[in-house]
Amino acid sequence: MAPGMYDYLVVGAGFAGATMAERLASRLGARVLVIDRRDHVAGNAYDPLDAHGIRVHRYGPHIFHTNDERVVGYLSQFTEWRPYRHRVLARVRGELVPIPINQVTLGRLFGVPADAAAAAAFLASRAEPASRIASSEDAIVSKVGRELYEIFFRGYTRKQWGLDPSQLDASVCGRIPTRTDDDCHYFSDSFQCMPAGGFESMFRAMLHQPGIDVALGADFRAVVDRERFGHVIFTGPIDEYFSHCYGPLPYRSLHFEFETLEMTRYQEVGCVNEPDERVPYTRTTEFKHLTGQRHPKTTIVREYPRAQGDPYYPIPNAECRALYQRYAALAARERGVTFVGRLAEYRYYNMDQVVASALTTFEDLAKARL
Ligand code: FAD
Ligand code: UDP
Repeated sequence: MAPGMYDYLVVGAGFAGATMAERLASRLGARVLVIDRRDHVAGNAYDPLDAHGIRVHRYGPHIFHTNDERVVGYLSQFTEWRPYRHRVLARVRGELVPIPINQVTLGRLFGVPADAAAAAAFLASRAEPASRIASSEDAIVSKVGRELYEIFFRGYTRKQWGLDPSQLDASVCGRIPTRTDDDCHYFSDSFQCMPAGGFESMFRAMLHQPGIDVALGADFRAVVDRERFGHVIFTGPIDEYFSHCYGPLPYRSLHFEFETLEMTRYQEVGCVNEPDERVPYTRTTEFKHLTGQRHPKTTIVREYPRAQGDPYYPIPNAECRALYQRYAALAARERGVTFVGRLAEYRYYNMDQVVASALTTFEDLAKARL
């Protein structure tokens, strides 16, 4: 680990840690040491070249999309952007149809005429309105009815989370819109672009500031000289920080299976989803769609959900949140430590939401110093 004294120790070189480190160094002139126990920066957005020279996302497909202009303005200091609008097909009833559900989906599965009024009328005839939307099951069944829910959401969600949609917050499946037009893009956000040189390059630019040192392969649990640091920014799992004193917080993990194929193109779109519960993986991603890379071969990844393994997904439901709140109460009392990021805040955040949270956390810290 780098020698010397630092004003801040930032644990984790993902979006939360890199944003905090960059702001602290460039805005406050602070001396910052960023550590990560992995051998790379960029956290789960890490996107190296594989053995064939194809850019892949080591921890599953990461597509940047946001409505937050503050986040776009902030990150644009560190990267150029390449427009990319993600499309996803779901394999249902032996064919590939667009998800989010739209006019095209309804036409292919039910012969609904291709116009918005017909699609809206069809969905209204199927929807089961509910007075209270408590779960992901309610969120979808109330919009599109039980048959479409079972086709597209039930099996995928049970695989992905190891829980039934009835056991998850409405916001989980509620992330996926339902459309009555023929827009086949996955996201609706105003800004949909990928960093032109990849995520890792963007992170290198963020961390390449006077005052920032980065130590990789360095675990916070092995840091014995905490007194060298005025303040700690912790972006790892909050329960781990407190030695799981209330028991482990549940996370969902994934096993990734990469395959490189001797063809330029494997599938029509970036992701093909597998809602059928009998298929053991949830989706197949072909990276060249996401990155725009030209290459005679192509690499794909399949995601196999797991209970054990690296913590990738906090689980959005009341039970897990109650346990998190106990850790959050400890965190609020912890002097000299700030918790920020998807694992530290135990929130199912997208990348832009993590950056937004870190920017706000930085502003609060900076104000508190005045
Ligand atoms: P992380 O990226 O997890 O970074 C935390 C870092 O802290 C890690 O590198 C870890 O090694 C390090 N760390 C933890 N504990 C310690 C310790 N004790 N000592 C040292 N280092 C430690 N978001 C989108 O916006 N679009 C997407 O398409 C998208 N797809 C996703 C797909 C998958 C499969 C997954 C898992 C996530 C996806 N996300 C996506 C979410 C995105 O990955 C996160 O929002 C974002 O990367 C979280 O950043 P973070 O800094 O909070 O955490
Ligand atoms: N989902 C689903 N079927 C799909 C796509 C998504 O049931 O074809 C549900 C599932 O519960 C998933 C959630 O919607 O976890 C959010 O999907 P998203 O694609 O945003 O997941 P992420 O990229 O975060 O893994």
